[in-house]
Amino acid sequence: MAKRDAVEVAQLLAEIGQRMRLRGGNPYRAKAYTRAAENLLTLTLPLETIVAEDRLQEIPGVGDAIADLIAKLHSGGTHPLLEDMRSEFPASALEMLRVPGLKPEKAIKLHKELGISSLKELEDAARGDRLKTAKGFGPALQAKILQGIAMLERGTGQKHVHRAAELLDQAARNLRASHPGVTRITPAGDFRRGCELVSDFILVGQRPKRGYEEISNGKVRVALSDAAHFGATLLFATGSEQHVAALKQLAAKKGMQLDENGLQQNGRRIAKSEEEIYAALGLPFIAPELRESGDVVALALKGRLPRPVEDSDIRGVLHAHTNQSDGVHTLAQMAKAARSRDYAYLGLTDHSQSAHYAGGLKPDEVIAQQAEVDSLNRTFKDDFHIFKGIESDIVADGSLDYPVEFLGRFEFIIASVHSHFRMEKKAQTERILRAVANPFTTVLGHITGRQLLRRPGYELDIERVLKACADHGVAVEINANPWRLDLDWRWYRQALEMGCLFSINADAHSTTEIDLTHWGVVMARKGGVPKARVLNALEREPFASHIEARRTAALRRIKKKTSSPAPSPREGGRRRMRLLRVHAKTR
Ligand SMILES: [Zn+2]
Ligand SMILES: [Zn+2]
Repeated sequence: MAKRDAVEVAQLLAEIGQRMRLRGGNPYRAKAYTRAAENLLTLTLPLETIVAEDRLQEIPGVGDAIADLIAKLHSGGTHPLLEDMRSEFPASALEMLRVPGLKPEKAIKLHKELGISSLKELEDAARGDRLKTAKGFGPALQAKILQGIAMLERGTGQKHVHRAAELLDQAARNLRASHPGVTRITPAGDFRRGCELVSDFILVGQRPKRGYEEISNGKVRVALSDAAHFGATLLFATGSEQHVAALKQLAAKKGMQLDENGLQQNGRRIAKSEEEIYAALGLPFIAPELRESGDVVALALKGRLPRPVEDSDIRGVLHAHTNQSDGVHTLAQMAKAARSRDYAYLGLTDHSQSAHYAGGLKPDEVIAQQAEVDSLNRTFKDDFHIFKGIESDIVADGSLDYPVEFLGRFEFIIASVHSHFRMEKKAQTERILRAVANPFTTVLGHITGRQLLRRPGYELDIERVLKACADHGVAVEINANPWRLDLDWRWYRQALEMGCLFSINADAHSTTEIDLTHWGVVMARKGGVPKARVLNALEREPFASHIEARRTAALRRIKKKTSSPAPSPREGGRRRMRLLRVHAKTR
């Protein structure tokens, strides 16, 4: 019998992982199989060669035991461990494990009590309101399951961007090892375009020999071409289809031809690299993140190509948790990590008191934490600064979390929804509008509450919320956590037109999560957000003046008229103009 290839073995390994989850026990063990399966898909040599050369253990996550398992699956297509597990549940029941929000023990229960043994049967039972006959299944869980199935259907084959980055990185390492002559290795596809969910796993590289070659041993497709064709190969592998079509059209108009062989005129190739192709077409280089549609070519021709913000423009980490709420590291560690990455400031925002599940800070804890900030700030002198903020829950009625007299203690506030996701649209919108109108609010956090491949956002009139953010000078958060990437980049152009400011926030719960900022920058770039509209692209001094001006105005307002805390939209607009002026000066 033919030996199983990497894709088939990865499937079997993943099945073992899933069956282990169903059995219960250590979830990390189950995860180890899933990870090994994914890494198997990044191979750039046939699995047969790797097994023959006894190099399985060079694959990340593959130790003695898993290597032995892979070798057996490769040669025989199964393993006693797998056969033993297969007798416990039908294969179709495993599909249920992929539904976000349905835990393995619940899936087992549904199988045992209601005889449900496939995704289809699960969906039918949920639609027919039958799940609740099993113990522990209420209408809320039933709704969540239906939502999860819908997400699953939409997200098939997609990976979160940070995980895709890891896999592509591993594939590039494999390629360097398996094909030492290959240079200029670059991920392409929707990953290079900065999409929030990745389904194209493509690497492009330059090979020393003439001609074109394609390698595909797992999930990653590798496209290799010589120096003369590298640009065209990269351009076509990056897409999008619409963008490439617009370029082809432009080429034809200019009496040229653009195809996989490159950009040609009178039968001669006139450009090698991507840069040269754009230049020969009379265009500036169009950043891959902007290549989602064909429209950008027209913008570029009119000289109106956006100049999006870059990683190096970000000067402060504005949304960071410590171990005083639900973070992993201490305040000193978080500050040190931000400083060592050359940021000029850290905006400390632990959770507020209502978020008790996340260790939200009570007023006396806030006071103690702020004293710690003061003493740390004295040690930094002028090269770094911690600003005293809070991620305040937006409570059900739209107020912020602490009494109004207490809010003035914070130098800035990120207002976020962490509860009552299921309000109806109008009430949810009114609730958030109230928080935006609160003069103490500096930034509106993860606006829709979505979690990619896990749950959609709550019902919300996003347009009204953005308009209010623009009117009140409240920055719109681009939450950079790859599970959130909220607000969705598709809204940014409209938000920019309304006059919104953005804040690109790591929402870091550990020192390494500070680096998630990058994914937020990628989203901002996709939405064409320029540096001048990013709050934390401000240097420390202008950032400090911005938040201090807002705080002082808020304090004045509550002194004057405690009964009506909302500033008029006109004043918010004036504040925003002031900030934009500051930006113009510092650029
Ligand atoms: Zn939050
Ligand atoms: Zn947070």
